[in-house]
Amino acid sequence: MRAHVRDVQDFPQPGVVFKDITPLLATPAAFGAVLDALAATARRLGATVVAGIEARGFLLAAPVADRIGAGIVPIRKQGKLPGPTVTESYTLEYGTAVLEMHADAVGAGDRVLIIDDVLATGGTAAAAANLVRHSGAEVLGLAVLMELTFLAGRSQIPSLEVTTLLAI
Ligand code: 5GP
Repeated sequence: MRAHVRDVQDFPQPGVVFKDITPLLATPAAFGAVLDALAATARRLGATVVAGIEARGFLLAAPVADRIGAGIVPIRKQGKLPGPTVTESYTLEYGTAVLEMHADAVGAGDRVLIIDDVLATGGTAAAAANLVRHSGAEVLGLAVLMELTFLAGRSQIPSLEVTTLLAI
C-alpha cells in the first residue's frame, strides 16, 4: 500500500511533504484492498451511515457506503452545501477553517463512521465528529487510509476509535 503513496515535497507550501494518494486510487488492486479494509471496519462497528470529509474522503467513503449498504453523508467546506447546515470551525496552522454538514443529514439512532484519507493534526476529524454529535447521531469512530503519527492527531480526538490502514 505504501508503495502507491507518493511523497510530494513543498506542497501545498514550502516545508511540507504531502502524501499523494492518487497513485493508489489509480491502481485497482490497491484501491480495492483499501476499500475492503475500510468496509470491514464499518461492518465491524455496525455503521448505518458513512460520513466522508471533502474532498479525498468522498472517494473512499462513497464506495465503502455502497459496499456495506449504508448511506453516505458529505461533510464539506464552507458554502458548498445547498440546504441548511450545521457548522464547525477549527484551527489550522495559520488561521481557521470551517466544515459543514446538512442539518438533517443524520440524527438520533444513526451510527456514523467518519472516513477521510489522512489523519494529520486531527483538527479536521475533531470538527467532523462534533458536527455529527451535535446532530444527535452516534459517532462510532474515524477510519483513515493513512495517519501521520508524528503530528499526533489522535490527541485531538481522544474519545474516537481510530482505524488506520497505513501509519507513517
Ligand atoms: P488535519 O486536520 O488532521 O491536520 O488534516 C487532515 C486533512 O487534511 C484531511 O482532510 C486530509 O485530506 C488533508 N491532509 C493533510 N495532510 C495531508 C497529506 O499529506 N496528504 C493528503 N492526501 N491529505 C492531507
